[in-house]
Amino acid sequence: MFFKIDKLESVGHRRPENYYNKIMEKEFDQLLDKVGKYNPKADINKIKIAWKFAKLAHTDQKRLSGDFYIIHPLAVFRILVNWELDTTTLIAGLLHDTIEEGGATKEDIFKNFGEEVTELVEGVTKVTNLRLKDDKREEFIESLRKMILVMARDLRVVFIKLADRIHNLETLEYLSPENQIRNAIETLEIYAPLAERLDMGEVKRILEDLAFPYAYATEYEKVKRLSSKYYIGASEDTWVMKKNISNLLKREKVISKVDSRKKHLYSLWKKLERPNIAWNFSKVNDIVALRVLVNDVKECYIALGLVHSLYKPIPHIGISDFIAQPKPNGYKSIHTKVFGPHGRIAEVQIRTFQMHEEDEKGMSAHWMLSMIKNEKGVTSTEIDEGKWKIAKNITWVKQLVEWQDQIRDSEEFLKAVKLDTLAERILVFSPKGDIYDLPRNATPVDFACSVHTKLVNYIKSAKADGRIVPLYYQLTNGQVVEIIKSRNPRKPGKDWTEFVVTNLAKKEIRKSLELTK
Ligand code: MN
Repeated sequence: MFFKIDKLESVGHRRPENYYNKIMEKEFDQLLDKVGKYNPKADINKIKIAWKFAKLAHTDQKRLSGDFYIIHPLAVFRILVNWELDTTTLIAGLLHDTIEEGGATKEDIFKNFGEEVTELVEGVTKVTNLRLKDDKREEFIESLRKMILVMARDLRVVFIKLADRIHNLETLEYLSPENQIRNAIETLEIYAPLAERLDMGEVKRILEDLAFPYAYATEYEKVKRLSSKYYIGASEDTWVMKKNISNLLKREKVISKVDSRKKHLYSLWKKLERPNIAWNFSKVNDIVALRVLVNDVKECYIALGLVHSLYKPIPHIGISDFIAQPKPNGYKSIHTKVFGPHGRIAEVQIRTFQMHEEDEKGMSAHWMLSMIKNEKGVTSTEIDEGKWKIAKNITWVKQLVEWQDQIRDSEEFLKAVKLDTLAERILVFSPKGDIYDLPRNATPVDFACSVHTKLVNYIKSAKADGRIVPLYYQLTNGQVVEIIKSRNPRKPGKDWTEFVVTNLAKKEIRKSLELTK
């Protein structure tokens, strides 16, 4: 025995029953192969030691499902491997519950795996710890504060938390109904939006669809029932479109993969609930979308032209080019809404294979990290080589940390986090074409403050898509917003705080009014 887990040494390394043991070992080995492929510099040996350590620390423990506890760290590891993360994160993923749930201590981990792994495991534990003690709102908010601090130190804690959350939701049926609902709501309000902010689009959708039936059971059943009827008609049209588009691309010698995807149930529900849609399925344009994957950016535009030669784009709402202008979270793709068969509006999304992988698998993690360091992508090999550390200066993370410092009142803090950072977002453009990412219902004043806080003292009027709009106007996705500046500073209106939605704008208005009193 080469471990020094004092408490467990007397127990010895008793293995779970052979059958499960074999399956798990086999999967672990396969996952290790995968790691070696995407990251030749990964420390495979160290990961193996972490696996043994985790098995030892969870000896004889079971999950509420009756399964051996070790299947949980293995599941978390599997998810992290799929996201192609670095050695340290993988090890911390295997060990993430060994202190909280297993028999290991912080010192054990420190001695065997060093400081970085220990910090990550502790970070994950801290976040979990508070939440488990009590389900009171105050406690939850406190744990959120902690998570933000930990997250600012090392973003990788969040990746482990997200993987942990996915597997816990998959086995949520074994918890009590109250715990199910609490977990599900927390997922929808905090973790899913967090995944989105990290450019892990597919992770966000997976979390939402796992939580949806527990959080809003009746609504879930309703959407499921009504949408299945709708899909029968839509899927036939989609099939025809898919065939026509891929045939044309083939004829034009563009190597491509054309797929269709159904809108995930949770996001479909959110859309149906909007007042302007009001459960009218024919108003949801992207309920079924086609995805065209090609090799490079040039071919994206060739494919766009070919798609439009078959299906005409819908005027005004037609094309969004997130390749020329990626979303602030890094999402890249061209979306075009076209008149499909039977006049049904359909969305076609065009992107490269790599862009697709980034969205699906959370390669975004690397993108996120590399964004700060340099323009080009960073690989986990480079992280493993210690070429650079996980950065802390992502604007929204910085902002969160600032608030958690400034806002003492818990409810107000939660509101700020949810509204400014995690709320559903809209994307608007400055007249120069820069993209700004704002919460839904944001006004021109919110926009002004996100461009520059000082601008709040120079707002004369505002334009949206070239037309003068009132300052309380609620901006919508894709609008071009322009602030007409006054020559001299002027006080913001006292009533502005009543219509702005971002915490940032509220704060700036109050500050300015105080100063000029
Ligand atoms: Mn866990």
